Amino acid sequence: MKILLTGGTGYIGSHTAVELVAAGYDEIVIFDNLSNSKLDVVDKIAKIAGVTLEFVEGDILDKAELKKLFSDYKFDAVMHFAGLKAVGESVEKPLQYYETNVGGTVNLLEAMQAAGVRKIIFSSTAVVYGEHAKVPYRETEPSGQGITNPYGETKHVVEEILKDLAESEPGWQVAILRYFNPIGNHSSGLIGEDPNGIPNNLMPIVMKVARGEMEELLIFGDDYETPDGSGVRDFIHVVDLARGHVAALKHLHEGVQIYNLGIGEGRSVFEVIESYERLSGRELPKRVVARRPGDLAAYWAAADLAAEKLNWKTELVLDDAMRDTLAFLKG
Ligand code: NAD
Ligand code: UDP
Repeated sequence: MKILLTGGTGYIGSHTAVELVAAGYDEIVIFDNLSNSKLDVVDKIAKIAGVTLEFVEGDILDKAELKKLFSDYKFDAVMHFAGLKAVGESVEKPLQYYETNVGGTVNLLEAMQAAGVRKIIFSSTAVVYGEHAKVPYRETEPSGQGITNPYGETKHVVEEILKDLAESEPGWQVAILRYFNPIGNHSSGLIGEDPNGIPNNLMPIVMKVARGEMEELLIFGDDYETPDGSGVRDFIHVVDLARGHVAALKHLHEGVQIYNLGIGEGRSVFEVIESYERLSGRELPKRVVARRPGDLAAYWAAADLAAEKLNWKTELVLDDAMRDTLAFLKG
């Protein structure tokens, strides 16, 4: 089975490539413009997986490049990771986010349609549930209302496009995967989250502070109505998340399926810090500041649908992710 991974040198794509190979899917082509990843990831995947994957440098905004890609290779399925993901930046540059995440996806779907490729797994997010959804978030909850940033809107719009497309034409097999908060990295420490520029997610910031590249971690609020006052999220190990893609591929069938990929329980910002400090033996410079605008207090996944339909569940916990993060920091 020949599989295209757009954005495959990125954080989640690279881990998924490793897990696909481990599951026997080794005919993989990565298509990435390297705007938020590095080419050496291809070698690192090869080191871990024992297979050198094909890499094509290109942009999903370039229709001609996509056309050539789909004529050069006969793909059976696409995993679509390419996109922009910084929530704060999306507030400042909404057009860029809509152009890449929505426009780029439309280009990809057009190229797929022209080439007769109708299997796609799409990287969506728990953000699409919006601020009014009941916790734990279930796939049956309405989505698209009360989304607090343009990034989340772009993901919701793409979900709607995929539903409309599958409705318009028989044969499409679509899995929409709503990720919760991926953390950690492969236990080799060779690949991991290494964003360009200033990160805004918790773990990359913890890593920057641990490396001394940032002075301190700012804890955005300790006055939430949560057990310890700090924000609560469903932190899923990226290797479990990657295995969720393999499971989704195996269970693709006609129509659109939507699955949460999360652990199914919430952990707090203070618990993440505690895990870092205990496992590293070092105190993390940190300070509590005001809540970050737009942040929700607490949410996590209802994880039973993916367990039932995909025969997938998470195996790794916060401490595993932290241990692997420490290995990545050393490497
Ligand atoms: P990432 O930035 O590490 O990976 C995305 C990859 O896409 C990068 O390698 C980047 O170079 C590439 N890319 C960006 N624009 C492109 C373009 N125009 N053409 C071709 N390639 C392009 O991000 P990630 O964390 O691996 O996320 C993968 C997907 O999952 C994204 O769509 C993201 O929105 C989604 N997602 C991520 C998270 C998270 O917390 N990491 C949560 C929910 C959803
Ligand atoms: N957070 C924090 N300090 C930071 C970054 C994040 O306290 O520098 C908190 C944030 O308020 C939230 C949690 O960590 O409660 C997860 O935030 P992240 O940005 O990683 O993910 P998201 O908000 O998208 O769930």
